[in-house]
Amino acid sequence: MQDIQILPVDETKQPVQDESQLVFGKEFTNRMFVMEYKTGQGWHSPRIQPYGPFSLDPAALVLHYAQEIFEGLKAFRREDGEIALFRPRDNFERFNLSARRMCMPELDVDLCLKALRELLKLEQNWVPKSEGTSLYIRPTMIATEPVLGVKPADEYLFYIILSPVAAYYKGGLKPVKIWVSDEYVRVPSGGTGEAKTGGNYASSLYASALAAQKGYDQVLWLDSVERKYVEEVGSMNICFLYDGKIVTSPLSGSILNGITRRSILTLVKEMGYEVEERALTIDEILDGAANGRLTEAFGTGTAAVVSPVGHFTYREREVDLGNGEAGELTMKLYNTLTGIQYGRCEDKYNWVE
Ligand code: PMP
Repeated sequence: MQDIQILPVDETKQPVQDESQLVFGKEFTNRMFVMEYKTGQGWHSPRIQPYGPFSLDPAALVLHYAQEIFEGLKAFRREDGEIALFRPRDNFERFNLSARRMCMPELDVDLCLKALRELLKLEQNWVPKSEGTSLYIRPTMIATEPVLGVKPADEYLFYIILSPVAAYYKGGLKPVKIWVSDEYVRVPSGGTGEAKTGGNYASSLYASALAAQKGYDQVLWLDSVERKYVEEVGSMNICFLYDGKIVTSPLSGSILNGITRRSILTLVKEMGYEVEERALTIDEILDGAANGRLTEAFGTGTAAVVSPVGHFTYREREVDLGNGEAGELTMKLYNTLTGIQYGRCEDKYNWVE
């Protein structure tokens, strides 16, 4: 494995003392991990250097044809002061899956994990300490070759940046109001939905802005072919408690294979629930919410862990779910998963490293 060079860094910037002032993704630590790739040469020059802007050629392929991928994971400060990562290998394996889909070079997962650990060791005082806070980790790869032409680049930059973040929920889990988009889709069938690539997020902005204008928190995305099967909510996977079973959209290629989703499915099986990964129609959801067969619905993702859904609007139809508070199972899953992350619950599956 290649050695990681550590460059000198000016440490005048210090983490904020009042951790309640943290805003998601606005502040970054003093250092970042960087390495470059060139066809024929492979990945080279892994190093930890001062955080700061890159110099990019205006013709860099990423700026024109969006050849870009990223990941999102968190480091937690546990009660014993140790810093823990939640299933980090899964994130770098998904990063490689995204790389393959976007014709980008894969990374050595062990080198990435080593780089991340070294970076965290140097930046450990940036992992906030208060309840529910964490250090958000953003690995990213961009195509840097300066050439105008639609083709996979011959040059890339990989980097990892770190951002201290506040607790997602300040006053308890608040159910969200969602608007079901029947006109705009997140990704087409056969598209790049399974990859964590910037274009998927850029194309989601318009429907999200329309939903926000109408007073909704999130968009519920339907499939692109029939516009009737539920896929994801905002940038989260979605899970339902339907007829007492856990039902969630299958990994059809157009949804992201969420690490929280996978962890929740393991936990609910252990709790004795039957799990169905099947296509669920929006009519089943709305009818289920109205007639009591659907009792809970929640998004799953790294940022919120679980996010309860309290209302759906689809065309002219508006349906409430629950009593304005997170359901019992939703709360239990939130407490169990965050308990494992922060070291309050037993980590039976060795998810924490
Ligand atoms: N779907 C999308 C589109 C996402 O961006 C995310 C967040 N990464 C998720 C689902 C949830 O994935 P994870 O549980 O791995 O954070």
